[in-house]
Amino acid sequence: MGSETEERQSGIAEPWHCPVSRKCGGCQYLGLSYSEQLEKKERQVRETLSGIVRTEKITGMSFPYFYRNKVHAAFRRKKNGDIISGIYAEGTHKVVQADRCLIENQNADRIIQTIRSLLPSFRITIYNEDSGYGLLRHILIRTGRRTGQVLVVLVASSPVFPSKKNFIGALLKKHPEITCVVLNVNDRKTSMVLGDRNIVLFGKGYIEDILCGKIFRISPSSFYQVNPVQTEVLYRKAMQLAGLTGNETVFDAYSGIGTIGIIAADQAREVTCVELNDHAVRDAEWNARKNKASNIRFYQDDAGRFLEKMAEQGKRTDVLFMDPPRSGSTETFMHAAVRMHPDRIVYISCNPETLARDIRYFHRLGYIAECVYPVDMFPWTGSIESVCLLTEHNQGTQNHNSQNQGPQNNNSQNQGPQNNNSQNQGPQNNNSQNQGPQNHGTQNRDNQYHGTKC
Ligand code: SAH
Repeated sequence: MGSETEERQSGIAEPWHCPVSRKCGGCQYLGLSYSEQLEKKERQVRETLSGIVRTEKITGMSFPYFYRNKVHAAFRRKKNGDIISGIYAEGTHKVVQADRCLIENQNADRIIQTIRSLLPSFRITIYNEDSGYGLLRHILIRTGRRTGQVLVVLVASSPVFPSKKNFIGALLKKHPEITCVVLNVNDRKTSMVLGDRNIVLFGKGYIEDILCGKIFRISPSSFYQVNPVQTEVLYRKAMQLAGLTGNETVFDAYSGIGTIGIIAADQAREVTCVELNDHAVRDAEWNARKNKASNIRFYQDDAGRFLEKMAEQGKRTDVLFMDPPRSGSTETFMHAAVRMHPDRIVYISCNPETLARDIRYFHRLGYIAECVYPVDMFPWTGSIESVCLLTEHNQGTQNHNSQNQGPQNNNSQNQGPQNNNSQNQGPQNNNSQNQGPQNHGTQNRDNQYHGTKC
């Protein structure tokens, strides 16, 4: 919970009454105190992962408000001509007016209101999803918490933005803290917010932020964690679990703008990163140069396909960081990962369900989860982030006798996932995937290995 001073300063009082909470649906835990939220999240992780890994205490925020550094607004023109800005009602594309929010950066909310107030005088029309007419689709605002830099992305249906110089002039007059304005062109009938083309109207085209003492450039379309305070907590824990000494080879998969890899690079011999999004990879390369990390390489590829290629070439790694999206990792990735024989896999997850599924799968491939640390990255919402350490089974143990479960069976370079005996045991094909841990045949073994290293 935040200190009394912090709460008084920001006018926060619990319970917080959000006028649009029902329609928005973003803050599922609004009715709970912050300590109740933390208890609930820790319990959820413990229950989801029960029998497969020991859950440690959750780390919450001291001031769990206004943490979101990325704020998005949609617009709607009402029948009477008034323009409203806000959020989409849950599960719909109906815009609900929301001027302030418990979790969003407060200045970003103010900038959105200013933009809304400027639209009529500049005759900027609002895009209508049904008819396809109109210009402005969304606003996206990103703030660098430590640098104070502010990026405003105007998402429009056309690259032709009327009186853009004057519009930006008027906006900057009210918000001199804005360091960059980008026009993102999204001319497709799509529910995706951003289109492919970015036109820089003012500033550098990206913002920078500082995490764990390193500087990172963030472009409009690159992934960046939305809660930088807790991201530092998460990354520090990830580094601690990785146990780097300076001699290790490290892989950072699903690496985004290279945050984890660059932070690890100081304490490793060499780091290899793989990420699908080419904007993020470009940011990552810039970030490595800026942070003078010369022992790090970036590859733009599907993480599973890339690791397969590395495994085929006989590459090994001491530590593997992996931070996949909500859907979790893939069988291909995990097979390839164990063929590279990492001593430690540090798995960062924003979805305990897919983490549980993937831990079970890793287990079949010879790796066990030692411990999992939940970190509350998303106060007031139901989302849960955690970081988990997996290590290779002790190959001499009695319980490690199934032919299909050990990394021994993955050693052969010629055995791709297709040839691997355990291929039918993956998440998709796993008959027990919907069964509680009680039904999971490996439960005793899981328990037996519960962590000494955390
Ligand atoms: N580790 C980074 C990013 C984590 S978010 C950080 O902490 O900031 C997950 C990242 O995985 C995103 O950048 C997304 O673009 C990337 N991604 C999604 N699917 C992928 C795939 N199949 N292969 C590689 N990267 C992928």
